[in-house]
Amino acid sequence: MTKTQETVLEISLSALEHNYNFILSKIKPDTKFLAVTKAFAYGSDACKIAKKLENLGVDYFAVAYTKEGVELRNAGIKTPILVLHPQAVNFKIILEYNLEPNLYSKKILEEFLEVAKQENKSNYPVHIKFNTGLNRLGFTKEAIPKIITTILNDNTLHVQSIFSHLAASEDLNEKKFTQDQINEFLKIKEEIEKLLPYSITTHMANTSGILNYPEAHFSMVRSGIGLYGYGNNPEFDKKLKPVATLKTIISQKHILEPGKSIGYNRAFIAEKTIVTATLPIGHADGIGRQYGQGKTFVEVNGKKALIVGNVCMDMIMIDVTNIDCKEGDEVIIFGQEQSAEDFATTANTISYELLTGISSRVKRALII
Ligand SMILES: *Cc1c(COP(=O)(O)O)cnc(C)c1O
Repeated sequence: MTKTQETVLEISLSALEHNYNFILSKIKPDTKFLAVTKAFAYGSDACKIAKKLENLGVDYFAVAYTKEGVELRNAGIKTPILVLHPQAVNFKIILEYNLEPNLYSKKILEEFLEVAKQENKSNYPVHIKFNTGLNRLGFTKEAIPKIITTILNDNTLHVQSIFSHLAASEDLNEKKFTQDQINEFLKIKEEIEKLLPYSITTHMANTSGILNYPEAHFSMVRSGIGLYGYGNNPEFDKKLKPVATLKTIISQKHILEPGKSIGYNRAFIAEKTIVTATLPIGHADGIGRQYGQGKTFVEVNGKKALIVGNVCMDMIMIDVTNIDCKEGDEVIIFGQEQSAEDFATTANTISYELLTGISSRVKRALII
């Protein structure tokens, strides 16, 4: 890895390829792979990540919102893109950019059908989502006859897939709940397959679903966090490589005599003489105030340094009393050495939140 001269989020495409191959090794050769690239590919760089994954041969992409799908198309992505939360106001754009909506309610289905008819579409691919226990988005099993009659009434829409989402696939204390979700989805699949005159793709498993529940793979799997190097479990984390490494440098060092304070509201007061270093990264970059006040470490020249005092908008201060370091030295916030999961855990949150919260002010740099 190169030494940095400013705050940068390094994105490793070889780590991405490693993670893709690892997850691929967990599924059957004929199971399709959908890569989730919502939220800037979990805070990294959606277009660059999608390009790499398209070259590696993924079958599908999923984004949360329409705008994210448009960005992938504008970057030249040709692979089918499922929009998980499409929203009626965007239906014309969805059709224009050849994106495929998740239709999760009667209202959304009827509204999309109407717009697709106006645009003279035929056999337009759509994905029907079922709620099996997450209670977030999705039809219930009881809606099946009505959905199928609506869709088979003319040839405007084609059911490309049906899917559901697991609520607790990473939590093995919830095995029974997850099994019930899988069984419910199996029943939905059987009923739909009886009513539709063509075959469909079926999918349910996110990363932890893929790793923990082979019986939930169906004909396609959807991986997000695993591709970016995190497996919601120390055993899988060891097999995966973090794609994103957040680095910065030391801007200045200070000596704090006993009784002197540092930062806003004097949140830290030195009890003995300490040496601090100021870093050019703060809550406006995605390192929130919850990481301040002596809870979280960063890494300086291979040693751990605690964040002291309050996190500022544009800077943080760390304790480097026992670390041999100077202005300009590199500091690793998280990445291969200290994982985003470990960093996030210090503030009772998860890698997903930390990664997707790194703001657009932080430069993204692709590395091989
Ligand atoms: C975000 C999301 C995923 C990806 O989940 P990971 O845990 O990151 O693998 C899969 N499916 C749906 C519906 C999602 O919203």
